[in-house]
This record gives sequence, C-alpha cells and structure tokens, in this order.
Amino acid sequence: MKKHVSYWIATLFALAIVTGVGTYVRHVKLLRAEIESTFLSRNELLSTFVALHRDQVTVMRNLVVERYRTAAEPAVSGLQIREHPELNGWEVLTPEVPVAGTVTGDGPLPLSPQQRREIAAAMGIEAQVRAALKFDKEVAWLYYVSANQFIYLAPQTPVEQFHFTPELYQRGYWLEAVPERNPQRRMILNGPLKDLGGKGWVMTFAEPVYVDNTFLGVVALDLRIQTLEQLTKIGQSTGETIMIGENERLIARPGGFAPDVQLQPRLSDKLIDWHEDDANGWWLSSPVIKDELWLVHRVSRRQLYWAAARESAATWLVIVMLGVLGVMAWRLRTALAQVTQLTHVDPLTQALNRRGFYAQAQTTLALAKRKQLPLALIIMDIDHFKRINDNHGHAAGDTVLKQLGGYLNDARRPFDLFCRWGGEEFILVLVLDDATPAVAVAERFRQEAQRTRIPPDDLPITLSGGLVMIQDGEPIDAAIKRADRLLYQAKEGGRNKIIAQV
Ligand code: GH3
Ligand code: MG
Ligand code: MG
Repeated sequence: MKKHVSYWIATLFALAIVTGVGTYVRHVKLLRAEIESTFLSRNELLSTFVALHRDQVTVMRNLVVERYRTAAEPAVSGLQIREHPELNGWEVLTPEVPVAGTVTGDGPLPLSPQQRREIAAAMGIEAQVRAALKFDKEVAWLYYVSANQFIYLAPQTPVEQFHFTPELYQRGYWLEAVPERNPQRRMILNGPLKDLGGKGWVMTFAEPVYVDNTFLGVVALDLRIQTLEQLTKIGQSTGETIMIGENERLIARPGGFAPDVQLQPRLSDKLIDWHEDDANGWWLSSPVIKDELWLVHRVSRRQLYWAAARESAATWLVIVMLGVLGVMAWRLRTALAQVTQLTHVDPLTQALNRRGFYAQAQTTLALAKRKQLPLALIIMDIDHFKRINDNHGHAAGDTVLKQLGGYLNDARRPFDLFCRWGGEEFILVLVLDDATPAVAVAERFRQEAQRTRIPPDDLPITLSGGLVMIQDGEPIDAAIKRADRLLYQAKEGGRNKIIAQV
C-alpha cells in the first residue's frame, strides 16, 4: 500500500525524537558512569593519602612507646633545660644536635626522672619527623603533647611564638583522645581548624600513647586541607566531590573549605551507593575511614540534565538539520509538482496540453498492455467553431471551450487521458473493458459534449470525431493519424457524427 507523505514525515519525526531522547538518556547514564568511576578514583586516592598519614601517626606513637621503654640513663639525665620565667615555663636545649622540633613545658623544675624520660622518648620521633617534614609538604605540624605538661612540636618554632600552656588540654583533639573519652584508644580525627601558625585549614590525626596501660600523652599530625581539596577535584565528573567527617562535618570540598556550609548527605558503608533526595538530586557516598570519614559526591538534577543536554547537543543538531532539510525537500517536491501541473495542463479547459499528453500516454499505454485492456482513441472537433467566434465573439468561443472541457473531464475515468490537441480539437484515450463496446463509450462522450451551450442564446454545439482502437505496439502518433483521417471523413460526411474504425 502506498503511504501518504505525511505518514512518512510523522514516522521520521517520531524516529528523530526517539533517537534524540535515546541519545540524551544514554548520556545521562554515561555521565553517571563517569561520575562513578571518577568518584572511585578519588576515593582510592584520598583513602591512600589519609591512610599514609594515619600510618605516620601510628609509627610516631610506636616510636614514643619504644623509646620510653628503652630510654638510656645518660640521654635522660643529659637534657639541658632553660627556664623562661617571662613565659612561666621552660625549653629543652640541644646545642650539639640539630633537631626538627621544639620541646617546651611548664611546671616545677627540676624535672623528675620520669618527665626526663618521657621528653627523651618524645624526641625519639625526630628521625620520622624530619623525614615527614622534608618529603611531605602536606604535613603542617607533627607533635607530641604530654599529660605531664610539655609539648614536642615540629617544625621548630621559637618559644616566643609558641610554647606549652595548659590551654592545650582544652583543644578538641586532646579532649577526644584522653582515656575518659576514648577508652578504645583509637585514632582521633579532629578539625578542620584554622591553623594558628598560619598554615590554612588543617585537620588533625591524633592517637593516644599508652605505656603498660598508663596514658602518657597524644601524638598528632596536622594535615593541610588544601591538598585534600585538590584530590577531590582530580579527574572529570559532573557535580562536586566532598569529604565529610563525623556528624556531617564538612572536611574538604573543591571550592575550598567553608566552616558554615551544612550538608546532610546520606552516608553509607557501601563503596558505591547512589541516593536521590528531594532537594539536591543525587548523592554518591563511600567510606574513607569506617564510621569517621566519607567521600560523597553531589550532583544536582539540573547539573546532570544540562551536562547530558550539552553532550547530546551534536545529535540534536543533526536531527534538527535533517528535519530542516526534510521540510525543504518536501516543499521543493510540492513546488515541483505544482510547476509540472502548470506546464502539463491547459488553463482554459483543464485538459492536458500536448506536453502533458505525451508525458502520460506512455504510462497509460503500458498499463493497458499489462492489464490486457483495450484502448480507444477519439479525436473530436467542434463543428463550425469559427462561426461561433464570428457570430458571438471570441469570449463566447472561450466559454464554449471551457464548458466542453468541464463536461469531458467529468465524464472520463481517472485512467483516461483527456487532451486539448489544438484550438477546438480534443483527444480522449479511453481505457475500456471487454464488456463495453468502444462505440458506445464514444457515443456517451459525444452526448456529454453536446451539453455545451453557446451564450447568450444557449444554442447547442455539435462535434465531429474519429474513433480508433490503439493496436498492440502501435505508436500513439500513428493512432492519432488514423483517427484524424476518420474525423476528416466525418466532416466531409456532413459533420455531427463520429466515425469509428473498430
Ligand atoms: P469545422 O467544422 O470544419 O471544424 O469548422 P471550424 O470553423 O470549426 O474549423 P476551423 O479549424 O477553420 O476553425 C477553428 C477556429 O477555432 C479558428 C480559431 O479562431 C478558433 N480558435 C482556436 N483556438 C481558440 C480559442 O482558444 N478560443 C476561441 N474563442 N477560438 C479559438
Ligand atoms: Mg472545427
Ligand atoms: Mg479545427
């Protein structure tokens, strides 16, 4: 079945929409997959980075414990102490050995052997500290705070700028690490805090030091948040990756740390856990340290949809361009059909002109041959048409032609050809069936034609004609020639008749 053009246009349009929407949906999926893989990489990086620094803290703790246990008597008694009455405290001097950190404290002097032993143990982390400070620029501070009122702080800081005060025991990491708050002796994650020494936002890993179940103090490392922020930006993904601590505490995010930003993501223990909320869109969450530190990714619906729209823009552009081309092609086709119609049809009678007749004759001949249907050809000529023009005017002649064209056009069937062959001369090519004799059909057309009236007196017209059957394989012009001879005979024979040769 031949489908209408609008059917194909609608189909193509639907296809284009389906393709466009499909591409868009695919891009949303791709973007989410990209977010997942980038998020996993970031998680991997940050986890390694954090684990590395936690390990440093644990190594420091182990060193302090080991040195405390094995501290030799000379090292312990050899410590030189300088008093700073103006600071209400003291400082350990090491004139011979260059050291990475500073030890300051308060409390009564001289120090007890136990205190000296602990100071020596604290200074035992020197090698580790020196290496960390040299190779790891992310580390802001490394320190050991003793419950016995002193601190070892690296890198070295003049006592005027920093020295031990009891206020240190009010710091968050200390309060959280002490036995009462931390009976499990786990490592504490504290912060972010604005570093007092001007090193930006830092977070603290702090671990309590116990020797034989006696709490000595806390080793700690301050890590610059800036580096974590850099790590949350690595790779390509829509939305932002944020580091979150306990109690929804923001640790790091790409835009830089902001203490007042409050987030309420759903934190999860799963490695990849998508979660959709009403306000923001999608969250992806994954633990960095179990129960303490998470990495989450936030992408709003708008961000994701826009990104997908941008990604699928090329496809949409192609679809729109194809659409425009399609419409243009269709309009061109319509215009061409109109032009063809104009060049093939006589405007006065609406009959085919010779050009149109020849263009369609081949099709009609081929069709009849295929269906084995007989073809009749009639040529008709209005009798004494010249007189009509002469007596009633050229306009009346035109009216006659117009009427005649209307009647004959209406009388023919769709496959029949109707042509204005010359001035007042018409050709009909009629597709017959075996049942109806050609003469009867010709007669019917003559009857129709004679309905034409000549204005203003409504006089009838008469026609003469010749009728032939187009022979198998006979060229159309040959058939016309034969019919024309019969027309001539009809004129000679008194007009108002059709002579047939069937
Ligand atoms: P016959 O019975 O022998 O056919 O006589 P006739 O007068 O019809 O034949 P003839 O061929 O001598 O005259 C045809 C006339 O038709 C000549 C011409 O002026 C006129 N004619 C041709 N085309 C048109 C047309 O478009 N409009 C009008 N009004 N007249 C036309
Ligand atoms: Mg005539
Ligand atoms: Mg004529």
